[in-house]
Amino acid sequence: MLVVLTKNISPHDTDMIRAYLKDHGFAVRDQAFGDTALLGASGKGQADIRELSLLPGVERVAATSKPYELASRETQETDTIVSIGQVKIGGTRISVIAGPCAVESREQIFETAARARESGAVMLRGGAYKPRTSPYAFQGLGMAGLEYMKAAGEAYNMPIVTEVVSPELADRMNALTDMFQIGARNMQNFELLKKVGSLGKPVLLKRGPSATIEEWLLSAEYLLAAGTKDVVLCERGIRTFETYTRNTLDISAIPVVKALSHLPVIVDPSHAVGIRAKVASAALAAIAAGADGLTVEIHPNPDAALSDGPQSLYPAQFEKLMRDIEALSPVVGKELLRTPRSPERAAAPSAAAPAADGAAMPVAFTGESGAFAEQALIRAFGEDAGRLQTKTFSAVFDAVLDGKAAFGVVPLENSLAGSVRENYDLFMRYPDVTIVGEIKLRIVHCLIAREEASTDSIKTVRSHPQGFSQCEAFLAKHPDWRLETWNNTASAVLSAAKETDAVAIKTVAAIASDAAAKAHGLKVLKSGIETDPRNYTRFVILARNDGNGAPVPPSMGERTPDKASLVFSVKDEPGSLYGCLKILSEEGINLSKLESCPILGQPWNYLFYADVNIPANAAVFDDAIAKLKARAVSFYFLGSYPASL
Ligand code: PEP
Ligand code: MN
Repeated sequence: MLVVLTKNISPHDTDMIRAYLKDHGFAVRDQAFGDTALLGASGKGQADIRELSLLPGVERVAATSKPYELASRETQETDTIVSIGQVKIGGTRISVIAGPCAVESREQIFETAARARESGAVMLRGGAYKPRTSPYAFQGLGMAGLEYMKAAGEAYNMPIVTEVVSPELADRMNALTDMFQIGARNMQNFELLKKVGSLGKPVLLKRGPSATIEEWLLSAEYLLAAGTKDVVLCERGIRTFETYTRNTLDISAIPVVKALSHLPVIVDPSHAVGIRAKVASAALAAIAAGADGLTVEIHPNPDAALSDGPQSLYPAQFEKLMRDIEALSPVVGKELLRTPRSPERAAAPSAAAPAADGAAMPVAFTGESGAFAEQALIRAFGEDAGRLQTKTFSAVFDAVLDGKAAFGVVPLENSLAGSVRENYDLFMRYPDVTIVGEIKLRIVHCLIAREEASTDSIKTVRSHPQGFSQCEAFLAKHPDWRLETWNNTASAVLSAAKETDAVAIKTVAAIASDAAAKAHGLKVLKSGIETDPRNYTRFVILARNDGNGAPVPPSMGERTPDKASLVFSVKDEPGSLYGCLKILSEEGINLSKLESCPILGQPWNYLFYADVNIPANAAVFDDAIAKLKARAVSFYFLGSYPASL
């Protein structure tokens, strides 16, 4: 049990609470969690929680059924997001750490950092002090190795993580590393945990080769109790009777630990399987099982590596793995984290750029909390991004144009229901607003209602028309339900939450996201009611182009735009569309989307919505666009941006 004390509690009140706990048979320990003081009560004692809560100076009593309290989901429902400089681990992102097993030389760590960065890793790993099974094996370069790694991390703008093997070294290493790693062999080195936890820095805690999940979480508890708030758990394989692989990757530990604890969980597939050819499969399985990221061993020349060469990926294998992770992430509702390659870029407009008064500008989206657009916004800008809710899509464009929001997020296309024409129209009407990024979000629809309702009692269903059309097959099974159209899915949920009428409470449901149900305190009657599970919406991020270009969302890193969206119309005469497409074809530009849409108020005239891939040679692209513009009757360039897979 944990007793959270009020901010300005007097020593007298603290003593009284301590005495109360001791009188009731508890062993009491003083703890701090950030700037909050806590009393931890353990042992066989018993106390009336309500009575305890009423003592002066008690803010809250967290009664957990688990021996680990600070690490337990029972004490904190929301996911902890650990920040290591610009990198965040947890939430809806997949964060990938890569680097060699050991730092071997300045050249080796710089080359590895370059390759890791190029493929999209956001943090650099590497051992300076190596806990090797044999005393005769390479033990690491020590502090010199750490200095090389720090320099490489700075050169490629990647925070670094390195293993600390003894409490004596912790202070010296603290000045150089951004995150400490506690190795598997040291998971229960309690003096080391206490020392490292007290430094307050983020810690990557590997699971011991023979540790149970509970022992692992108790080791995390040591770190949290000692003072750090930022612990990332790392499953790296456990010892079983199987000898084919180096260890056995305990995939099932991922969902188990995610349910038991609020701490992020990442996976080290390299030490888990120990065989290079098996690392990528294990890594993808980990992502599918819900891991928040990976730490992967890579080496520019694994055959010459001084440690763990056989399990280290060649840079090209890592590059392929990152592409696969990028494609898989949206399936599990996540996005591969990207960070800027240079610190200057990190300081550039974030979510968002400072307004004239110095306050950060928000990002605009349409709908209430829990809207799919808000989920896309969080993917692109993080949980901390300021948000501006609007009622209509055009209000998002206005907010961006008027400088009330640094960026906006709107849906452009759904894989089942097609293009959102209204937003295409808005881009044509707002020439100073341009697309600067895209997020592909997997859309899982739920039937949501009040606690009192059941599927059998529902008579009315509210949602956005897209919600209805994406759930057609499910709705066809309930032909008697009345469908009511709302501005967006989350506002349909909010309306159901606000119903006071006794009949409506039982009969009204909404179709929206799980997040919307949570945000408005409603129950999910059925999840996954979209007609096809491969249901994605492509949201675009928009920004104002002030003539000198538009800001770029920091999460897009420094990825060069490789996709552009266009709208054009052609003359009503033979070969006119062919003439436009021929220009692209002759320049070798790939067309990834072409759709025709009737022009409002001009019967039998059509606009073409096109997406094209931008070739490496930008001059070729500019030339093609100029020719296309000249050839088309009307032409709108909606923006160029890095494609999301
Ligand atoms: C490492 O990450 O380099 C390492 C030694 O891992 P583990 O502690 O999991 O064996
Ligand atoms: Mn290793």
